[in-house]
Amino acid sequence: MNEKVSEDVKKVVTSGPTVSGMFAPDQENLVEPTSKSEEDYERCTQCGYCRLVCRVYNTTYAERDYAGGRNRILKSLKKKEIAFDKEKIIDAIYQCMLCGNCRTVCPSGIDTLEVFQTYRRTAVRKGVMPEKLQILKNSILTNKNPFLESGTDRFNWCDSQSCNEGHKAYERGAEHARKIAFGELKPSDIEEHLVGYFVGCTSAYRNNELSTATSRILDKMGVKFIVFPDEYCCGSVLFRTGLEDDAIELVHYNVDMIRKLGVNEIVFSCAGCFSTFTTEYNKFTEGDLGFELSHMVQFVPKVAKQKGLKIRYTKRTKEDPLIVTYHDPCHLGRYCNVYDEPRELIDMIEGVKLIEMKHNREMSWCCGAGGGVRALYGEISTDIASTRLDETVACWEDINEDRLKEAIETNAEVLVSACVFCKNNLHLAASQTKPDLPVIDLSQILEDCEFY
Ligand code: SF4
Ligand code: SF4
Repeated sequence: MNEKVSEDVKKVVTSGPTVSGMFAPDQENLVEPTSKSEEDYERCTQCGYCRLVCRVYNTTYAERDYAGGRNRILKSLKKKEIAFDKEKIIDAIYQCMLCGNCRTVCPSGIDTLEVFQTYRRTAVRKGVMPEKLQILKNSILTNKNPFLESGTDRFNWCDSQSCNEGHKAYERGAEHARKIAFGELKPSDIEEHLVGYFVGCTSAYRNNELSTATSRILDKMGVKFIVFPDEYCCGSVLFRTGLEDDAIELVHYNVDMIRKLGVNEIVFSCAGCFSTFTTEYNKFTEGDLGFELSHMVQFVPKVAKQKGLKIRYTKRTKEDPLIVTYHDPCHLGRYCNVYDEPRELIDMIEGVKLIEMKHNREMSWCCGAGGGVRALYGEISTDIASTRLDETVACWEDINEDRLKEAIETNAEVLVSACVFCKNNLHLAASQTKPDLPVIDLSQILEDCEFY
């Protein structure tokens, strides 16, 4: 166990009953989470099923790093068996990706994510916060992004030369906002189904390839979308790290800004923004956002079907497809139940073929970047990502068809995801351990597709 953990915490997590999770529970026997009780942890039986699936625990082997161990700490804190030590409790609180795999397997139906987010929120209110988080928080509140970048640079990615499609969407968005502000247009007068693209901080400031690809795909599909020149950070990182009190202001700002424009549907390329709108924004507006939410992996197949469009990957053929394996992002899968649509989308693309990894859908392993672990515990995050890469390679090794074996030898296959954080973390791990393995976002494949 990490030396930094307090003696109290060590005592708690090593003195309970033996943890027995030696096999995965049968999905059919699992109990659905029944409540959102902040004290769900009281129902923890220390069965240990969650220990088996927790990628953090299976990297650190520290008892406080999986749900059962953390629940034991919470119970002991409540009974005042251990003292709340601000400095020593930080790792026990933050070394969790909030990936939700423990919630999926918990036979007691504990909503572990609710428990852990409450734990973080309570800790922050008591003054516990890693130093790096304070910097991040200050940047979000001041600059409306976590990267210490100027708010006015948010749309630098879409000048007319680097991304003309995004540039046009920006001009349409600015003109639309101007007309609404000056009363030249009322939201109720808008007849078309108005689509807005919520870009998000990471795609805007760090991963322009996503915002550019998304703009080009929407344009190719004939969707006349707008972007929001007044967009602020969605607040995802604040929610996940216990800073919910600061995030609420962003929720109200973004919702009001979008509502005023009369937008009917928001599309996202960022799984983090999408899940924050779907879960937190819906919660704070009591399920009445006033506009639809779609991630690109949902929007593209939906519009393709509506318009009768076929999709063809221009770099390969039906006979010689690009073999991809899909990594389910926690924020799309376990958070929002989006499992089928990305697979359906890949199936729709002529020239691309999907092979599943062993751990997929509800039991997908986290990439290691969630819950602030990337920012606060970089090394652990990279170790976790590496195990996901091992599985990607293993999935190919299991393939029997000769053609696919040939394809492996060409190194043409790629690991795709639909979350910028998964892409970045898995790409970083690949660059250190498997440099021949391309890790890309699904939108980058779609960018090379024709829609006809
Ligand atoms: S959180 Fe659930 S799965 Fe984990 S030890 Fe407790 S009861 Fe078992
Ligand atoms: S949310 Fe993920 S990282 Fe956190 S305890 Fe559960 S399985 Fe482990």
